[in-house]
Amino acid sequence: MHIFKDVEPLKSFLKDKRLKGNTIGLVPTMGALHDGHLALLRSSKQQNSVTVCSIYINPTQFNNASDLEKYPRTLDSDISLLENASCDVLFCPDNHTMYEEKSIVQFDFGYLDKVMEGSFRPGHFSGVALVVSKLFNIVLPDNAYFGQKDWQQYTIIRQLVKELKFGFNLHAVTTTRESDGLALSSRNKRLEGAQRQKAIVFYEGLITAKALLIDREPLSEVKATVKRIVEKHPETRLEYIELVDSQNLKGIYNVDEADQPILCIAGYVDEVRLIDNMFL
Ligand code: AMP
Repeated sequence: MHIFKDVEPLKSFLKDKRLKGNTIGLVPTMGALHDGHLALLRSSKQQNSVTVCSIYINPTQFNNASDLEKYPRTLDSDISLLENASCDVLFCPDNHTMYEEKSIVQFDFGYLDKVMEGSFRPGHFSGVALVVSKLFNIVLPDNAYFGQKDWQQYTIIRQLVKELKFGFNLHAVTTTRESDGLALSSRNKRLEGAQRQKAIVFYEGLITAKALLIDREPLSEVKATVKRIVEKHPETRLEYIELVDSQNLKGIYNVDEADQPILCIAGYVDEVRLIDNMFL
């Protein structure tokens, strides 16, 4: 695997690959890699001749200093995982490389970044859009891969790619889960012992809500049931559960109001914040 920390050597390496007729797939990550990231990597490897994985913990998307500080950093084991998965290129820049000077550019995605994660994490999606735009311009991929697990992020990046005419194909990859249903997440590494067991309340909440909504239970009652499920432990807390149209993130009241409704959930196990979602 070729490892680049700087932009120019990576660009000239990829330019050469492109001239030789290779297609380039990009998998942006913040590291602490797990099987969910590797599923993105496998999709990219199937569809491209060169796969670039980026690992960069982007400070501008953290609205909470302690979350940034405690974000797991496991570069050595990430490199081994990527090598075992036959990743072609790793781009792991430092802060100076990605932000030579303090950034003043801000993104506003209208309704898309005001709801759900946007309302609890002000500025988060602007930071995400900024860093992925930089990565898109550096790598110039033919395809880029993001997880369905962060559906609101995917929706916003889809809008970014469309409006700014980046001109490559974007792919959403199905969420990888543990055998008990917990969605894989780098933040799971912060869950200890009993906390890990209790983290499945969010998946349980989604499964229950899906069944109740399909049975035409009123949304308000479904939300109350999910709150009871999630908050059955003193350590677990529900931040939101929303039923939305997956295409525009507008809230809906029943499953017939959208072609592809999605349930999105967020909450805490002690101080660790987790999100998940499920299509209906
Ligand atoms: P992160 O490193 O958490 O920023 O995630 C990098 C990419 O991996 C994002 O596109 C995520 O949506 C995706 N991802 C994270 N967790 C999962 C998962 N459990 N299954 C599939 N993709 C995931």
